[in-house]
Amino acid sequence: MKGSAKRFVVIAVATGVGLLATSGLTAAPLVAPGGLVRWVGEGVESCGWKGQQWLPIEGSCWYPIDLLTPEGPLEIFRVIDGRREETTISVAAYPYKVQRITLEDDSQVNLSTEDLARVKQEQQRISALWGRQSARRFALPLNPPLETLPAGGRFGDRRFFNDQPRSPHTGADYAADEGVPVLAVADGVVALADDFFFSGRSVFLDHGDGLITMYFHFSDILVEEGEEVRRGQVIGKVGQTGRATGPHLHFGIRWRRARIDPALMLAPVDEVLAVP
Ligand SMILES: [Zn+2]
Repeated sequence: MKGSAKRFVVIAVATGVGLLATSGLTAAPLVAPGGLVRWVGEGVESCGWKGQQWLPIEGSCWYPIDLLTPEGPLEIFRVIDGRREETTISVAAYPYKVQRITLEDDSQVNLSTEDLARVKQEQQRISALWGRQSARRFALPLNPPLETLPAGGRFGDRRFFNDQPRSPHTGADYAADEGVPVLAVADGVVALADDFFFSGRSVFLDHGDGLITMYFHFSDILVEEGEEVRRGQVIGKVGQTGRATGPHLHFGIRWRRARIDPALMLAPVDEVLAVP
């Protein structure tokens, strides 16, 4: 390799997440915004980053990286035997696709004053969920939200509705027929179950440790707010309520406030990017 430029080799790639190593050297793991990183260890007592600390899951620390995290280095730490270890991961730009959606009903794109007020109120109810705190009740990987889970997609898409830029797509869409049962991905409690302007009939589950899962566009909701649910329990049926162009399940995740690709929590744990 003498005299040649540094050679970069991709040695692990999951959805939107890659790990680069230079020849002979180990570089900081590169993670896409919306990605997930784990740091495997033994005797780990706690994990964290600036201003936040949390418990490991079966010895591993997990770091969910929000979809809108700016590029740059991110210092993470863990505590083993009372000793603090630090390392740096690197958040790198990821070329999320651009999705252009045409809706015949323009009132779902250019909202009336009334609808805008409704959406604002709904967003407040929803964002109040991100700060909920309770003990972890989930195991990884999560249970698939559909018995037969097709390849999902479109997480992170930069979206244009009727040619107007809108928020990026923060969940994964799974094509399924109207009426197909939707399953809870872990034990938890129903934090919200209602009919919302954009997401239609929706269910939000709280699984503790800051993990909220969301399921949109149901034809029917089969649970009530405050109800305890078990992993694999049917919580509703696939539909196309709200702003949807056909029946599908929109499945989204917030983990410690971070919007991450749900595929990363459904995949075998070994496939998630690990700190070397
Ligand atoms: Zn969606």
